[in-house]
This record gives sequence, C-alpha cells and structure tokens, in this order.
Amino acid sequence: LISLQQVHRSFDARGGRRLHAVRNVDLTVQPGEVLGIIGRSGAGKSTLLRMINLLERPDQGRVQVAGQTLTDLSARELRRARSGIGMIFQQFNLLQNATVADNVALPLQLQGHWSRSRIDTRVAECLAQVGLVDKADAYPAQLSGGQKQRVAIARALAPRPAVMLCDEPTSALDAETTREVLSTLHAVNRELGVTLVIVTHELSVVLKLCQRVAVMQAGQLVEQFATSEAAQGQSALARELAALAAA
Ligand code: ATP
Ligand code: MG
Repeated sequence: LISLQQVHRSFDARGGRRLHAVRNVDLTVQPGEVLGIIGRSGAGKSTLLRMINLLERPDQGRVQVAGQTLTDLSARELRRARSGIGMIFQQFNLLQNATVADNVALPLQLQGHWSRSRIDTRVAECLAQVGLVDKADAYPAQLSGGQKQRVAIARALAPRPAVMLCDEPTSALDAETTREVLSTLHAVNRELGVTLVIVTHELSVVLKLCQRVAVMQAGQLVEQFATSEAAQGQSALARELAALAAA
C-alpha cells in the first residue's frame, strides 16, 4: 500500500552545513498493517512519516501510496491523493473555535463536493466510530486530552482514508487516556481496515498496537522486524522492546 524508495531529506543547518534528517530509506507497508516507527529524538521519525503524504517533500527518492506515485503528481492531483491519507498529531491540532462536529466536517467541506446532509451523516458516523456522538456540539476546550485525540481521529477518518499517519498520538496523554486512544486506533484498524503508521517513543504503545516495527537511527532505517520477534533485533531499542514484552 505504501512504498518509499530511497527517500532522502536534508535541511540547512548551522555553519552552512547540511543536516541529513532521513537518508536513503526504503520502506514498504502492507494493506491493513499496523507499523510502528521508533528511534531516539532527532532520528528522523517525524520527517520520514511526513514524507509519506508529502507534507515534507523528499529531495531524492520516490513515494508511492495506493498505486499512485505521489512524487510525480501535480499539486492538484496531490491534494486529491492526500484525502486517502489521514494524519493525527501529538497536539491534536483541532480548531479551538469550532465545535467537535465542525472540526470533523472540515476535511469534507474542503473537498467541496459534499452536500450539507451528506456531511452531517458522515460526521455522525465518524463520531460514533470513536465513541463521541454525545460531544458533537462541545468545543475542544471542554474535552479531555484523550477525547480531543479521538476527535482528531474522527476528523482524519471522515474522507475514508486507506492510511492513517500518527505522529506521537499518545505522547501528550496520561496512562488512562492513552489506553482509550489506543483502543480507538485498534478498532479503526480492525473494523475499518485502515492501515496505520505510528511514530512513537513509547515502546508500550508499540507492544499494544503494532504488528511490525521499523527502527530509525541518525536518519537511517537500521532494522525492521515483527513485534513478536523483537528479541532477534540487533539495536538497543529492539532489546528494550523485547525486555518490556517479557516483563
Ligand atoms: P523527536 O523524537 O524528537 O520528535 P524525530 O525522530 O521525529 O525526533 P525529526 O523531527 O524527523 O526527528 O528530525 C530529524 C532531524 O531533522 C533533527 O535533527 C531535526 O532538528 C531536523 N529537522 C527536522 N525538520 C527540520 C526543519 N524543518 N528544518 C531544519 N531541520 C529540521
Ligand atoms: Mg518527531
């Protein structure tokens, strides 16, 4: 479903040098899979994730999602292709002055071809999926962190994406609300078949949700393995993951 081929991204750094945030990464994600991307701070996880929907454009390499080569598309074609790729963030990124229902409706309104009644129906379906029908008229400030993240998930689901990209989806949450968000993401994958790619520094999140893990180090993807096979991994993070699984 997702294929990254030799993607590379560098930035201007101090002293006129280049900082190579992601170096020549190859990565494939199968339909229906839940993949975790782990690595230390600065390893390039977010940059890699943001290249899957071209929020960050690779300066070399190819990105393919659902049979389309995104790196070859025009701006207009890319906007359409992106509706098949949802994204959620650590800080939720909800509109504070809009109700929950209006936040979820937003991506559909931006598509321009939805009638008001179809939008209302779709918003209700998405809020039901995340268990927040009763919060439709609330404002984000009236919700807990876990509820805010579930609204963000509902908003990402509204255009029926095949893929959802999650950047530290539970890192701003406590243990209780983390559980709530993880079970929502699990249901989105199992019930709707949405493929999930999850960047996280929380190994417990990987154990609870991800079937496969990719480890990044200094911009490179150093190894990949099934979560259940973490003990065979070579990196320090693989060993930490195996130890946590055994605990
Ligand atoms: P964290 O766990 O802290 O979120 P990360 O693995 O997500 O880290 P990235 O955010 O992908 O890391 O950043 C990788 C490297 O690229 C870092 O050194 C970062 O400072 C640098 N970087 C990322 N975005 C930019 C940018 N827009 N301009 C300059 N440097 C950047
Ligand atoms: Mg990051």
